[in-house]
Amino acid sequence: MTEVFNSTVFQTVQSSSFSDVVNNVFQSQPQLNIAEKLWASWYTYMQNDVLATGLLFFLTHELFYFGRCLPWYIIDKIPYFRKWKIQPTYIPSDKEQWECLKSVLKSHFLVEVFPIWTFHPLCKSLGIGVSVPFPPLSTMLKEWAIFFVLEDMWHYWAHRLFHYGPFYKYIHKQHHRYAAPFGLTAEYAHPAEVISLGAGTVGFPIVYAYLTGNLHLFTLTVWIVLRLFQAVDSHSGYDFPWSLHNFVPFWAGAEHHDLHHHYFIGNYASSFRFWDFWLDTEAGPVAKAEREARIKAKAERDAKKAQ
Ligand SMILES: [Zn+2]
Ligand SMILES: [Zn+2]
Repeated sequence: MTEVFNSTVFQTVQSSSFSDVVNNVFQSQPQLNIAEKLWASWYTYMQNDVLATGLLFFLTHELFYFGRCLPWYIIDKIPYFRKWKIQPTYIPSDKEQWECLKSVLKSHFLVEVFPIWTFHPLCKSLGIGVSVPFPPLSTMLKEWAIFFVLEDMWHYWAHRLFHYGPFYKYIHKQHHRYAAPFGLTAEYAHPAEVISLGAGTVGFPIVYAYLTGNLHLFTLTVWIVLRLFQAVDSHSGYDFPWSLHNFVPFWAGAEHHDLHHHYFIGNYASSFRFWDFWLDTEAGPVAKAEREARIKAKAERDAKKAQ
């Protein structure tokens, strides 16, 4: 029995097709918005909340990850866009894209088959709700902002650690196979890296739900989609005049992460530029020259003081 509806207003529909369920929900629940109606239809149709949540997560990941990669694949085929390619001499071949796609798919199935069956019970024990209506937009916006900031912090430190000796050699090196990344390479990584960096995406919402006892699965699902978009876009290899970081200076974007792949050190954060700026780990020749100038100036000041 599904628990998507809190009240007894709605009786479970024993219908044969998904469209029958959608029609029924749209007619009987006019007070809900479209997203809520579709959400309720999915859980009602599935008749099994464990499978409904598990499949929802798996399908959301596959659909939005590969769906977001597709425009970048097409853009790579159109010479007009080359003027905005960060490393214009390197355009990924179809063979490279195909190899990358196969590897990412394999990793997804390896890592995600288990959570399909366990995620809903976990949500239930933490009080992560699936019922309709959804929480107010203001609540969701606040929670997405919190998750972005916390994930960025986690990513910075975990990624920096992955550049240390054996962690790099045995785990993170795989992700650095492409010195000029393209969309699909966002999740081209060792399963241990997918799990540990993924912990920053899913782990903080779990902790948040545990502490507050109040998080909706829809909020979590949209957060994961936003994070997928951020990861794919930062690997796109393109920096357009209309890219977000040109309007929001602390947003990392592709320009930030492309430099990480190009120079191998620096720019460890995912969504924002705060951590690399504060801890002086910005990548690239400009940042390196500035860092060296700062070190030189400090040495000269120290020498003067000592005189
Ligand atoms: Zn790295
Ligand atoms: Zn990367």
